[in-house]
Amino acid sequence: MLDFDEPVATRSSLPAGMSPLHNSSALPYGATGLETVEMGARRIQVDDKQIINCRADLNQLVPFKYKWAWDKYLDACANHWMPNEINMNADVALWKSRDGLTDDERLIIKRNLGFFSTADSLVANNLVLAVYRHLTNPECRQYLLRQAFEEALHTHAYQYAIESMGMEESELFNMYREIPSIHDKAVWSLKYTDSLSDPNFHTGTPENDQRFLRDLCAFYVCFEGIFFFVGFTQILSMGRRNKMVGTAEQFQYILRDESMHLNFGIDVINQIKSENPHLWSKAFQDEICSMIREAVELEINYAYDTMPRGVLGMNADMFVDYLRYIANRRCDQIGLPELYAGAVNNFPWMSEIIDLKKEKNFFETRVTEYKTGGALNWD
Ligand code: FE
Repeated sequence: MLDFDEPVATRSSLPAGMSPLHNSSALPYGATGLETVEMGARRIQVDDKQIINCRADLNQLVPFKYKWAWDKYLDACANHWMPNEINMNADVALWKSRDGLTDDERLIIKRNLGFFSTADSLVANNLVLAVYRHLTNPECRQYLLRQAFEEALHTHAYQYAIESMGMEESELFNMYREIPSIHDKAVWSLKYTDSLSDPNFHTGTPENDQRFLRDLCAFYVCFEGIFFFVGFTQILSMGRRNKMVGTAEQFQYILRDESMHLNFGIDVINQIKSENPHLWSKAFQDEICSMIREAVELEINYAYDTMPRGVLGMNADMFVDYLRYIANRRCDQIGLPELYAGAVNNFPWMSEIIDLKKEKNFFETRVTEYKTGGALNWD
């Protein structure tokens, strides 16, 4: 029988060579899914599942409790794509031409490929080394495994674009050490993940549960939900002007993946809130609001750094309102008040591509034009 009061698996009950991941009896039976398998334990029930601090077997996907996570996993798989399926010939010719691109346009391309080439790797490392350990639910972990692969695809896409155009790889992959506006975004986010990736860190206390929730807000809401949006807008704007169309197509697929990552993260945050309302205190909400404001400022700096002069029918000033508009949406999505009254969407055409209003359920509808792989049709 599964006794929730029983002590955690002891060293002697673990398979040979496997050390216990923790030794506190306050920690849950199934914190990792790698604990010993108990013969004859009672069958798992839906109500045994919890999004964090679960004490039940983590290897049993069903019965589903968080069907939204499973559905997102299925939707993501149905929309599989590969970076090397996209033709980069036009981009290569344009990049290597003498006067096809202005210096300002080249700056935008290089800075964005530089930022994203390491940004999605940071997201992947946070997912695999921090988030995965502490999100104690098999349906959510199934989606995280898919998301982790998509982050790998995104890093692949940037590498593929950089290599195709013969750019200086070491220059671009080192921008997060060398370009202040890129460095600042990376450093800001890493401070939220470093403690969680510590093998001795465990959720289970209000303070540590808030640390985990803070990390989720930093990476899903701020990093993927705000830090990506200047770059996406700039590169997609080029594609709309028939420039760098291959790179723009890569970014379009990435943006659609990212909108689902964001929606998954928001669902997880809201689920944790609903199961653990004590974590969502007024002080904690104020802290998350401050984080979002900081993220907006960092992204505004990035807009000016990538776009010192107006180009492509836009300028950095336009991003100030746009980022505030996006931040208001993020606040609304996780139940916080709007931070920027009256902020407007200066790039309504972005909504046509991803439709910000449809972010909530973009992949819950059938998106046939995006499907390049996935389920085979035997008819
Ligand atoms: Fe992502």
